[in-house]
Amino acid sequence: MSVRSWGNYPKVEHAAVIPLAWRHEALPKVGGTMLPSGLARSYGDSCLNEGGTLLATRGLDRLIAFDRTTGVLRCEAGMTLGQILALAAPVGWFLPVVPGTSYVTVGGAIANDVHGKNHHLEGTFGAHVRRFELARSDGTRIECAPPTEPALFRATIAGLGLTGLVTWAELRLKRIDSAMFDVETTRMDDLGHFFALTEASAGYEYNVAWVDALAKGKDLGRGLFIRARHSSVAIHPMPEAGARLAMPFDLPAATLNRHSVSLFNALYRARGSRGWQHTHEPYSKYLFPLDGIAHWNRMYGKPGFVQHQSVVPRTDAPLRVRAILEAVAEAGDASFLTVLKVFGDREGAGLLSFPRPGVTLALDLPMRGAATLELLERLDAIVRDAGGAIYPAKDARMSPETFRASFPRWEELERHRDPAFSSSFWRRVTR
Ligand SMILES: Cc1cc2nc3c(=O)[nH]c(=O)nc-3n(C[C@H](O)[C@H](O)[C@H](O)COP(=O)(O)OP(=O)(O)OC[C@H]3O[C@@H](n4cnc5c(N)ncnc54)[C@H](O)[C@@H]3O)c2cc1C
Repeated sequence: MSVRSWGNYPKVEHAAVIPLAWRHEALPKVGGTMLPSGLARSYGDSCLNEGGTLLATRGLDRLIAFDRTTGVLRCEAGMTLGQILALAAPVGWFLPVVPGTSYVTVGGAIANDVHGKNHHLEGTFGAHVRRFELARSDGTRIECAPPTEPALFRATIAGLGLTGLVTWAELRLKRIDSAMFDVETTRMDDLGHFFALTEASAGYEYNVAWVDALAKGKDLGRGLFIRARHSSVAIHPMPEAGARLAMPFDLPAATLNRHSVSLFNALYRARGSRGWQHTHEPYSKYLFPLDGIAHWNRMYGKPGFVQHQSVVPRTDAPLRVRAILEAVAEAGDASFLTVLKVFGDREGAGLLSFPRPGVTLALDLPMRGAATLELLERLDAIVRDAGGAIYPAKDARMSPETFRASFPRWEELERHRDPAFSSSFWRRVTR
């Protein structure tokens, strides 16, 4: 059975995909290995299990309890972050951490310890998880919380689905006055400007920059800087979330080239001006801009695409980020979704969390075979040299060497791995 991850690369076959419908059910008995699966919003192969079984958790989408006075919410692991926000935001509660799409399950958010545009203040998703239940292949069920099962709790957060199936989780939400955001956007001239704007925006709850990855020379690092706060002005009725447009089929791979991306970049950058532009937006528009176009990943055509998300320590980050952007611009590869952000000082909540103090850069590159893989290898070398890391949730091809340098404690996760659980990613990077 063929299952695609978000990047449509690699394309692998599974022995079976078993839908789970009820959190109290025992795990199925399967011949080979199994791996929990959410909405397959991971880009590469960390959500794939070639030749094995996927446990599809989307049927586990029930709300179990929500205390509106404390903001503590318990739900099954297949509930999506979008579903939680749709019920919590109208009554004044919000998820403290969300990634760039609302189409992510709670199980998936835990397994990658996802981060958002407010990492500098709130840390990662796992920092707001109070407890969860883990179903293991030997039939045991373990309720994990920091005081009772500290090691398994920490291994499961960012544990890439390898420690067992999370059946339900309890999350701590944060209070908000409004589901609207006050957003400020300005043009960014170059990398130096990015760092200056980040410093000047430290007091904002959310900030992120989009970079024109085709710009070179003195323009390298130009783009838009966007910062935001939850608005204090309540709005009723609630703004709608969800996809409004859809990409009906895979576009021919040649549609996305240097010229079309260059045009997109020019149009996108024109949205910003020299000063700060102020807008008042529904949370979904600011936090999940691409959710408005369903299946936008089809834009890359059948070969698919790869994302390279790295983090490098802050000390020589300007140098390293410049080197990565130069390599991409030189290669002429069309990364039209290039995002730059400074992570805060908080360590991740999991054993193998990707976020750490430093600067993170995410690039989307169309998959063009050997040339793309060679370029990515060059980018990895820059990151390794800097003592940084590559994000497994976005990866389809990093070498075992790069993985081990990124996550020196990986063997501790291996010790907590359920022996019946595995993934294409894990086999590739630990071989
Ligand atoms: C447009 C877009 C923007 C994104 N932006 C960000 C971002 O800003 N920050 C960020 O951190 N990530 C980001 N991501 C990546 C995404 O948040 C993660 O890959 C997330 O883990 C996907 O969740 P999922 O439910 O689709 O899980 P899947 O991709 O299906 O699975 C991810 C992992 O979770 C495990 N898993 C799933 N359910 C369970 C369960 N019940 N129990 C145990 N393990 C489980 C799987 O085995 C797998 O290892 C983005 C992705 C997209 C497509």
